Parts: sequence; C-alpha cells; structure tokens
Amino acid sequence: RWSEYSEKYIAGNYSIEMGRLSGGTLYCNPINYAADETQKERFLVPVAKDGQIGASAMTEFNAGSDIFSMELRLHERDNKLIAKGKKLFITNGMIADFIVLYGRLDNGQLAAVVVDTEHQKLRNFRSTRVRTYGMTDAFVSRLIFDRVELPKENLLHGHGLDIAFHQLTEERLVISAEALGDAMKKILYSHAYALQRMQFEKRLHQYQVIRFPISKKIRELNLMFSALIQYARQMDEHPELGSSKLMAANAMGLKISSTELGFESAIHCFRTLGGRGFTRQYANEIGLLDSYCMLHGGGSNYVLEDSESRRFFKHKPTRREVEDIIPKIDY
Ligand SMILES: Cc1cc2nc3c(=O)[nH]c(=O)nc-3n(C[C@H](O)[C@H](O)[C@H](O)COP(=O)(O)OP(=O)(O)OC[C@H]3O[C@@H](n4cnc5c(N)ncnc54)[C@H](O)[C@@H]3O)c2cc1C
Repeated sequence: RWSEYSEKYIAGNYSIEMGRLSGGTLYCNPINYAADETQKERFLVPVAKDGQIGASAMTEFNAGSDIFSMELRLHERDNKLIAKGKKLFITNGMIADFIVLYGRLDNGQLAAVVVDTEHQKLRNFRSTRVRTYGMTDAFVSRLIFDRVELPKENLLHGHGLDIAFHQLTEERLVISAEALGDAMKKILYSHAYALQRMQFEKRLHQYQVIRFPISKKIRELNLMFSALIQYARQMDEHPELGSSKLMAANAMGLKISSTELGFESAIHCFRTLGGRGFTRQYANEIGLLDSYCMLHGGGSNYVLEDSESRRFFKHKPTRREVEDIIPKIDY
C-alpha cells in the first residue's frame, strides 16, 4: 500500500515524499559521501538499488534545533560499538532496514554509524510510532537503543557533524520540491473552485478578496520553481556544489520560502473552499497539517531564518575601523 489512506500513489502526498527523502537523500547521501567501497556495497546498494528502506537518526528529546547537543553514546568496546540512547521524530524509523545513527564516541566526538536493523528484529533495539496529526505516511518514530551491539566496521569515516551537514543542501532542495508540489495542489484546488463556484450570482473569482491571494501564490510559486530548477541543474552539473556555502544558503532560503508558501496556500485553500475544505473528501488531500509539520522538518524555519539573517547582517569592520584604535599607552 502506498499510504494508510489509499491503495494508489497520491501526487503531492507530502508524507510519502518525506519517507522517500529520508530513505533517498538523508540515508544514501551520507553513505555515498563517507563510506568506503565495502560499506557502500553493504549499505548503499540494498537501499539505493534494491528498494530496502533507509532512515537517518539525529534528533533527540533534548537535541532538537540544537543538534550539536546530542547525547546518544557510541561506546567503543574491542571491535564493537555499543549504542545507548534514544532518538525522536525519525521518519521511516519503525519500518527502516538500515539507519544512519549519529552519536558521540568515548572521546566526545560526533560520529555516524550504520545500523542494520535486521528488518526491525535487532536485539535491544525498539521502535514505536509517534502518533502525529498529519505526516501519517512518514512513519515518524521514536527509537530506543538499549546497549545495541554494532560492528565497528559500520562506522562511517570522518566527523559526524561534517557528515550530517554535508547532505543538508540536497535535503533542502528536495524538501523545497515537495513543498512546491504541495503548494501547487492546494492552489489548483482553490483556483478551480474559485473559477466554478457561483454565489450571489457571481463566480467566486469575480471577488477580489478571493482572487488576489490565489494570484499572489501563483506568482510566488512560479518564481520559486524557476529558482529550484536552476539550483537543481547546477547541482547535477557540478556535484561539488554540495559543499558550496552559497548553494547551501540558497537551498536554505528556498526551503524556508517554499514551506511557508505550502502552509499559506493550505490556509487559503481552506478559506476558499468554505465548508467543503473540512470534509474528509478533501481534507486528506489538502492536509493543512502536513505542510504545518514541514515548517519544522528539515530544520525549523525560525532557526534557519535566524542563521540566514545573521549572514546578511554579518559585520566585517573596515580597515579604517580596525586601524582607528587609540593605541594603549604603556606607562
Ligand atoms: C515530519 C517530521 C519529520 C522529521 N524527520 C526527522 C528525521 O528523519 N530524522 C531526524 O533526525 N529528525 C527528524 N525530524 C526532527 C526535526 O529535525 C526537528 O523537529 C527540528 O530539528 C526541530 O526540533 P524540535 O522539534 O525539538 O523543536 P525545538 O528545537 O524545541 O524548537 C521549538 C521552536 O523554537 C524555535 N527555535 C529553537 N531554537 C531557536 C533559535 N535559536 N532562534 C529562534 N527560534 C528557535 C524553533 O524554530 C521552533 O519553532 C523530523 C521532524 C518532523 C516534524
């Protein structure tokens, strides 16, 4: 089944796309970046090629936006790593065959290790669903690692933070694509209803109050699509842009704007459709809550905006300011 609601694929089902993002980008990208050839053969091929399910586990109860404060321990014992700790809000967690797990080694450094969940039967590992409003098909889960033994050769090479951050640009472009698809569907519903629905002997689109917000959203959607296609093509042609600071900033900006657009389009859709917007026939497909979730998924927008605005307001003192210091008198 594609979804809890449907036997078939629903275009623009945000939560299915989140599952795909998690297995595709969030799991595969770090492995492609930081695994050796043997690890790629064991952990990348089954997910990227053979359709097994991947997940990425960073977030913890106390380490949400502040991901650097994560506490899960990866104790080193001979040729094993012992994972102890909990993870929260992990997309695909309860159905994953493989998980990239982030935690701290004995020296305190962040690291990433691949967990083969043995089809969720791994000893001392438990996963349960977080019951969410919205994002139903993303199987958002809570994971418990109660001294889970992992072979040391599953450890990815390099610093965990670098591995985690490396995939962010691609992740944010994929989330932007999801958000724009989601926004497009909602704008289409609003537009079609406004064109056809007659009230007070006029079509709804003949009222400015209905027409203007939809037109504004169409304009924003078109602009963001152009940006997304341009960034995605640049990344395809020059994969090394995955490490570019400018591309990272562009992808972050697009993630913020596109997920906000998805959320606002959902609100306008509910408003335009009147009572019908709340019936089950539409509510599943329109889904206000999926787009609300994605203001936080992939990095919460407030935090991203804070980081973006700091960059815009970064103050580099001029040479004159640097030199214009009254010299200290040495008595
Ligand atoms: C649908 C979904 C799927 C997810 N999938 C995964 C996954 O697969 N793997 C994974 O590891 N994680 C996943 N997450 C977790 C996600 O990355 C976190 O929810 C996110 O990082 C925010 O953390 P938090 O929920 O603890 O919020 P908090 O960190 O508690 O933040 C609460 C609010 O405070 C704001 N805030 C926090 N700090 C600041 C600041 N410095 N300045 C201004 N505002 C601030 C935030 O923007 C937010 O609005 C998922 C989340 C969702 C919703």
